Amino acid sequence: MAITLNTGFKMPIVGLGVWRVEGKEIRDLIINSINIGYRHFDCAADYRNESEVGEALSEAFRTGLVKREDLFITTKLWNSDHGHVIEACKDSLKKLQLDYLDLYLVHFPVATKHTGVGTTDSALDEDGVLDIDTTISLETTWHAMEDLVSLGLVRSIGISNCDIFLTRDCLAYSKVKPAVNQIETHPYFQRDSLVKFCQKHGICVTAHTPLGGAAANIEWFGSVSCLDDPVLKDLAKKYNRTVAQIVLRWGIQRNTFVIPKSSKVERLKENFEVFDFELTKEDMDLIKTVDKKHRTNQPAKLWGMDLYA
Ligand code: NDP
Repeated sequence: MAITLNTGFKMPIVGLGVWRVEGKEIRDLIINSINIGYRHFDCAADYRNESEVGEALSEAFRTGLVKREDLFITTKLWNSDHGHVIEACKDSLKKLQLDYLDLYLVHFPVATKHTGVGTTDSALDEDGVLDIDTTISLETTWHAMEDLVSLGLVRSIGISNCDIFLTRDCLAYSKVKPAVNQIETHPYFQRDSLVKFCQKHGICVTAHTPLGGAAANIEWFGSVSCLDDPVLKDLAKKYNRTVAQIVLRWGIQRNTFVIPKSSKVERLKENFEVFDFELTKEDMDLIKTVDKKHRTNQPAKLWGMDLYA
């Protein structure tokens, strides 16, 4: 199941996110997920596993498991490479062993001190606060992203972690419109206005952290997980599904793409089995009531400052 982006290319609705997957786990994860039916992979230079993803993809192509044109591969420009967009994209392509990307995203709308292409460091200043480069705006970065399309290195370009204002600005100055805004959204952080704004203006929304980050974000950020929510648990019983499936199905029915991460084969299957049932309008409305406006992915805890404040 796929939806056509504003560039005319189709993006599968469910993808596999590979953040926090260790290099040695990647090969089996990618091969298993392709066997299950995944055709969309969400990567990033900052996940520091592009080379291992590239090895796995190359094996999948070499053995005839899948063809390049049947996969949709996303990766992302890291903050420290905003002044080096073309080199950073080429570095990711080389690591992924690809000659084009389906989607390249600006990971965060903020440039930081350059530390060497592809190194993805987040330099902090002497006070332990993220060292932001104030000479590079998202507009400057975006025009370099547009060049990637002209060069044939990338089919679609997009933004990530952008609010309504930044997205509006990007629409205003872009020659190539952003195809996607990848944002955190799940039942505990629904962000209906931002989702509606993007969709109204032809920008597809990909829900990162679509399960609310579950155990991983409890461990990393002390977050609260929507997978433990009593209303969602009751719905899971009612539909004879897991809470994760209810949460992903809700994401799909609000026309967002979902890119859950799991390192477990059973969960990869579970997270992909979300096309054979439908939540009623009443239950979609019921899920609206559980919103806690709770961001579970909190880079502020790593960067000494809250970019969203
Ligand atoms: P998710 O919402 O995908 O949650 C991942 C957590 O859920 C892991 O602990 C995983 O554990 C667990 N999990 C997965 N499936 C199930 C299930 N069926 N039942 C119970 N628990 C489950 O969070 P992520 O932070 O991983 O986000 C997903 C992807 O989004 C990332 O991999 C990345 O590609 C992208 N992302 C993008 C960001 C951006 O800034 N653009 C920021 C954050 C994420 P286990 O592996 O043990 O199954």
